[in-house]
Amino acid sequence: MTDKPTNKVLAGVDLPPSPAPSSPSSGRRRYALATELVYTETKDQHGASSIPIYQTATFKQTSATGGGEYDYTRSGNPTRSHLERHMAKIMNANRALAVGSGMGALDVITRLLSPGDEVITGDDLYGGTNRLLTYLKNKQNIIVRHVDTTDVATVIPHFTEKTTMVLLETPTNPLIKIVDIPSIAKAAHAANPKALVVVDNTMLSPLLANPLDMGADISYESGTKYLSGHHDIMAGIIAVNDSKLGDDLYFMINSTGCGLAPNDSFLLMRGVKTLGIRMEKQQANAQVIAEYLESHGFKVRYPGLKSHPQYDLHWSMARGAGAVLSFETGDPALSERIVEATRLWGISVSFGCVNSLISMPCQMSHASIDAKTRQERQMPEDIIRLCVGIEDVNDLIDDLQRALVQAGAVTLSIDGFEANTAAASAAATQ
Ligand SMILES: *Cc1c(COP(=O)(O)O)cnc(C)c1O
Repeated sequence: MTDKPTNKVLAGVDLPPSPAPSSPSSGRRRYALATELVYTETKDQHGASSIPIYQTATFKQTSATGGGEYDYTRSGNPTRSHLERHMAKIMNANRALAVGSGMGALDVITRLLSPGDEVITGDDLYGGTNRLLTYLKNKQNIIVRHVDTTDVATVIPHFTEKTTMVLLETPTNPLIKIVDIPSIAKAAHAANPKALVVVDNTMLSPLLANPLDMGADISYESGTKYLSGHHDIMAGIIAVNDSKLGDDLYFMINSTGCGLAPNDSFLLMRGVKTLGIRMEKQQANAQVIAEYLESHGFKVRYPGLKSHPQYDLHWSMARGAGAVLSFETGDPALSERIVEATRLWGISVSFGCVNSLISMPCQMSHASIDAKTRQERQMPEDIIRLCVGIEDVNDLIDDLQRALVQAGAVTLSIDGFEANTAAASAAATQ
């Protein structure tokens, strides 16, 4: 985090109403986000400083008519409630809900739609999001319009009183384009006050951005990524301010049974406490690597670089640049050789892990988008995505440099490394 969180962050948020309140606060002062991430209040019966895993499906009731705070884990579980309260606090929300994955979160959210409803969304979406929306379009009679949400002038004319939901992701991935959440939210609500503006905040995490403060009605993220940080669980978090909306989403979770399991709730709770230091280190590394690649002539997409065409827009919304960047080599075969020649950079989809990862989105995470659509959306087939971890940055650069040389992407000279001109100029003209 480069900037100190403002007082607005975490200020004046009511504690989340939850199916079962567990840690009400008495209007205590709010600390900076880095502090709030590790600070928890529990009223555990034994004073456990880490909320236990309530590995139980049922809870004994006090009378024949119920009466217990919890009755059945599909409906509520103390470990999950504790996590939900903590996440609501961190996401600056009135209520947060924890489910089994990021896609599970979007499934719950899109269940608010009815046949004939219209969704306006981006054209550089997470592959799984694209797949679910295509299913809804083909089978559930939902109208889905993919437009360039990174250009306010393009997207606004699409909003009408029929717009039911606007689904945004910023920065987009792998093209790292920025979406102007406040302007789009305002225009969508002006066209239809009931339109739900939904933001997938996975790429930035609550450490760097709070979509609910920018006019979004729902903010959700994959807990599999930065929130947990170790690629050892799947989780999804949904956050809202409107309590009716929160109740509707909770209804879906209770009805379908996709609430996060107690064990995974515990692990996500543990993971999120280190979000601050992980993300700080990851984005500091990402910045150095982005500058390294750019200085060697590659076309690099990263909002931490002044050369990013939407640099100012990004920084008007976010407290940091994140730790995902992409670059082009001019040749898919060359990109493949680079990816396969790295050792420290694990070839893997996903991001947000403490380990650094490398991938070719068109072959991996975005392969569920067909080649024709990828071409229409100007997704370069040679694009390499780097998801930067917490390793020593010099080791990461050494490893990348060795892979670039071995793949023939850069040529060795007395002065150092120069991008292979053919590859670099091809990348520059794209
Ligand atoms: C990973 C991811 C998702 C889906 O989350 P899962 O936990 O994998 O289901 C959604 N959106 C974005 C931007 C992601 O990176």
